[in-house]
Amino acid sequence: MNTAPTKHWNFRLRLALVLALAAFFAQTARAQDLKVTLLGTGNPRPSMERFGPSILVEAGQEKLLFDCGRGALQRLYQIKIEQVDGLFLTHLHSDHIVGIPDLWLTSWVMGRTVPLRVWGPAGTQRMMSHLRQAYSFDIHMRRDVDQNLPPQGVEIQAKDIRQGVVYRNGDLKVTAFEVDHGLVKPAFGYRIDYAGHSVVLSGDTRYSENLIRFAQGTDVLIHEVLDPEAYRNLANSYTPAQRAQVLAHHTTPEEAGKVFTKVAPKLAVYSHIVPPDVPDLIPHTRKTYAGPLEVGEDLMSIELGQQIAVHHGQR
Ligand SMILES: [Zn+2]
Repeated sequence: MNTAPTKHWNFRLRLALVLALAAFFAQTARAQDLKVTLLGTGNPRPSMERFGPSILVEAGQEKLLFDCGRGALQRLYQIKIEQVDGLFLTHLHSDHIVGIPDLWLTSWVMGRTVPLRVWGPAGTQRMMSHLRQAYSFDIHMRRDVDQNLPPQGVEIQAKDIRQGVVYRNGDLKVTAFEVDHGLVKPAFGYRIDYAGHSVVLSGDTRYSENLIRFAQGTDVLIHEVLDPEAYRNLANSYTPAQRAQVLAHHTTPEEAGKVFTKVAPKLAVYSHIVPPDVPDLIPHTRKTYAGPLEVGEDLMSIELGQQIAVHHGQR
């Protein structure tokens, strides 16, 4: 009896099984991963390289956006994401929120059928209800008169939050903690924990002991920075007193280095970089921190799986 074809098929069957299992485990691994994408790493001044502050965190299937600066929706669209599951605001400075009407209304036009959920400091609810008022003509037209878009898709569920756990879904937990943004109160940073991985986002802050406390044990710490030397050389319309105020609201590279050293994350990353181009950012940080460090750029993504992988540029 010729057994060759049977052997052949047995081999094929085993190979198919191995491949299927490999695909299954790869899928499972991905479902456990936490992925962070810097959509905008800039500051209030327009820049084509650094859009307004905004960070996407993907935990399994869930997509959460942290801040919504200028161009956030365009960056999302660049990485082929049309909808997010929620928006968390660090504070209500315009450079962190100016992209909200675009995210809210355009993603409705692009097909959102459920309300946009927004969490943020005191004043968030009021701001969102005023945005509804500001865009009432467009909402009425698209919902009731012209395109008959789904009414639920333009609704907003906004919540003013305090320090503590603000969102939980299965293995995913989002914790807000107070940071120190000078006179701008309240201002929050966020810690996102998911399936054994974690990332901490500083929001806008000067050196903050509370941030160091909440960031303990985190895998990745993404921190803002303002380099005083480079900032002083920047031509702008501010008076010396106004410039001093800006400096007092943010963290210098040397201070950020101290924060990184105290937290000792597996990876430290700069985002919200002021001014957008700081030639000596790394040398200034190295005075106080010797660990892993990345200077963030728009569309840089960080995958937290079995290892931490950094990818540059568009997906
Ligand atoms: Zn700010």
